[in-house]
Amino acid sequence: MTIDETIPLVLGGPPIQGEVPTDGPLRDGFGRLIKNLRISVTDRCNFRCTYCMPEEGLDWLKREDILSYEEIDRLARIFVSIGVEELRLTGGEPLVRRDLPVLIEKLSPIKGLKSLSLTTNGFSLKQMCADLVAAGLQRINVSMDTPVREKFAHITRRDALPQVLEGLEECEKYPELSPIKVNAVAIRDFSEDDVLAFAELARRKPYIIRWIEFMPLDAEEKWDRTDVLTGAEIRAIIESKYPLEPVSDDRIATAQRFRFVDGTGEVGFINPVSEPFCETCDRVRLTADGQFRTCLFSRWETDLREPLRSGASDAEVEHVIRAAVWRKEMKHHINDPGFQPASRSMSQIGG
Ligand code: SF4
Repeated sequence: MTIDETIPLVLGGPPIQGEVPTDGPLRDGFGRLIKNLRISVTDRCNFRCTYCMPEEGLDWLKREDILSYEEIDRLARIFVSIGVEELRLTGGEPLVRRDLPVLIEKLSPIKGLKSLSLTTNGFSLKQMCADLVAAGLQRINVSMDTPVREKFAHITRRDALPQVLEGLEECEKYPELSPIKVNAVAIRDFSEDDVLAFAELARRKPYIIRWIEFMPLDAEEKWDRTDVLTGAEIRAIIESKYPLEPVSDDRIATAQRFRFVDGTGEVGFINPVSEPFCETCDRVRLTADGQFRTCLFSRWETDLREPLRSGASDAEVEHVIRAAVWRKEMKHHINDPGFQPASRSMSQIGG
């Protein structure tokens, strides 16, 4: 494969060790196969979660810097052609980007794609669910940190719990949209009282509740380890009333899955702080402005927008992707001395 030297291929990060693979399934320097691409379609959001961004919001990306749906589609096809099987659309809040079903319609028929999902705060879900499903959306994760209206308004700075619950109920009308997951960020001295209420929601409704440990990805860098309520602690609260048993799952997943022993519902625990799962990481991320991140906590990025807009061929873009993935970080360093936060906050990466 010849590389056109005129195309500026900006490779961020550490020097390449060894020969970058030029074919075969996408894999990193540790031999991990990369099958999951998370695509942020916007850095904007209509909520202001206190553990994510300040009330006034952030300096939003300029419109001209944001990838078009055609550019996202082209990149997604290149990734799927070299082994990615799962695409997840994220934000900021993806449903604030206009005409999102148009993008889903482009992506859903990609040959080799096994899963197309969306992570949303659910605020506009009731209105948009039918179009998202008609466009080909298969799975959905709704972020909801508490089922208590006042607490919801406090942590999101939006009195919007009723809309989110309506959005979830709307999803129930579409059996092809499955599973329906509810992601709750666990924060000490905030979440404990909601644990059993969420367990009862998982037993009452077709929602899988997943608790996610609070990670140091907040824009104001106020995260403190003492705010982390671990998955093990939450599980103990649930099991004080509802015994759980593990759900075996041979797929690579971030969540430890459990079902209630009496068989009514499922909960999951994503414990990146207390029980990191980097060893089996198969995920990479694309930011809304076309920067490629090989780890949630990356401190470097590789520009994919520039080659796209400078006339690079698919093969040349593939080369850049392979070179960046080859240098994918082994793990996060949250628990290591001298941990340095990611070069972007969660709302600018998309989770
Ligand atoms: S922290 Fe990075 S390496 Fe670890 S699981 Fe997350 S994305 Fe993968």
